[in-house]
Amino acid sequence: MARLEGKVAIITGGGTGIGKATALRFAKEGAKVIVTDINQESASKTAAEIQGAGGEAQAIAHDVTREEQWEQVVAETVKHYGKVDILFNNAGIYIIKPLAEITLEEWNRLMAINVTGVFLGMKHTMPVMAKQKSGSVINASSIAGLIGAPGHVLYGASKGAVRIMTKDAAIEYASAGVRVNSIHPGYIDTGMVAYASEATKHSKEELAQGVPTGRLGTVEDVSNVVLFLASDESAHVTGAEIGQFGHPKLGETIASIIEECKRFQKPWGIFCPSIEHAEGWIQRGASLVLVGSDALWLLNGINSLNGWKRKYSPK
Ligand code: NAP
Repeated sequence: MARLEGKVAIITGGGTGIGKATALRFAKEGAKVIVTDINQESASKTAAEIQGAGGEAQAIAHDVTREEQWEQVVAETVKHYGKVDILFNNAGIYIIKPLAEITLEEWNRLMAINVTGVFLGMKHTMPVMAKQKSGSVINASSIAGLIGAPGHVLYGASKGAVRIMTKDAAIEYASAGVRVNSIHPGYIDTGMVAYASEATKHSKEELAQGVPTGRLGTVEDVSNVVLFLASDESAHVTGAEIGQFGHPKLGETIASIIEECKRFQKPWGIFCPSIEHAEGWIQRGASLVLVGSDALWLLNGINSLNGWKRKYSPK
């Protein structure tokens, strides 16, 4: 039997990237898929692809920041199929910018999509699932929801919020038979990584070098994880954060930093509490400086460090 046979799934941001791949995968596994996206055309293309392959899908234009549109999506799904088994809160946007340059408008827009969208999705589907006494919600967080990174105050705040909202909702709904989990991918080869490559001035190949497997994740890598969380195979998994996949290397990064510093006989600073301390180290000729009180710099590796070093190095 297919892994999602008879299940009804809503996927937000299903017009491209991870959302699209997951919609196709869900349909292949027997789910009826409601593909929503702010871009009606891309949602319709995904739905048409599913239908073309013999699956069942519908496309709905849906801005996840709009509560009345959530009400409509859930009402239409229930009217059509009588239930909602799975919600993949996938829609999201990415902004990489130094803290001081983030505008309030950018902050509010990203938070509205990445955080409010997830909240509204859970708010409008989980009570329906609770009545059914079953359901699975998967929220798209990120490695950025687990650790800090340069230029990630805004995006990281949103993904950190998604991580903890997931756990809170999981506890609240566990006894009702509704599960909620979050996924935390690293670099996955979609338009978002193309954007990250542009914003950090590192080619995709350079970004991939920092990943343990030596490659960027694919959308299929992610949809496989989402499929597991959506299916009954994960019936006893809730409040979990899964998928630290595609993350930069930890051990090797530290080792190569130390090696490089030794090689050039330069002083090196590690875990400076602030960027001001880091600047001090750089001015004293440090080769590489790690900033922050957790493993963020280690995990984000030399690529990120080089970005900051360039930015903060005295000319
Ligand atoms: P993507 O290719 O940009 O897809 C995101 C989709 O969401 C797009 O179809 C986009 O439509 C749609 N969207 C944007 N604003 C929306 C709104 N207000 N309402 C409804 N839909 C909206 O990105 P992706 O890489 O597949 O990412 C999917 C999720 O995974 C995101 O939450 C992202 O933060 C997370 N993630 C991605 C990576 C990665 O490396 N790719 C890593 C970790 C986490 P438009 O294209 O028309 O804007």
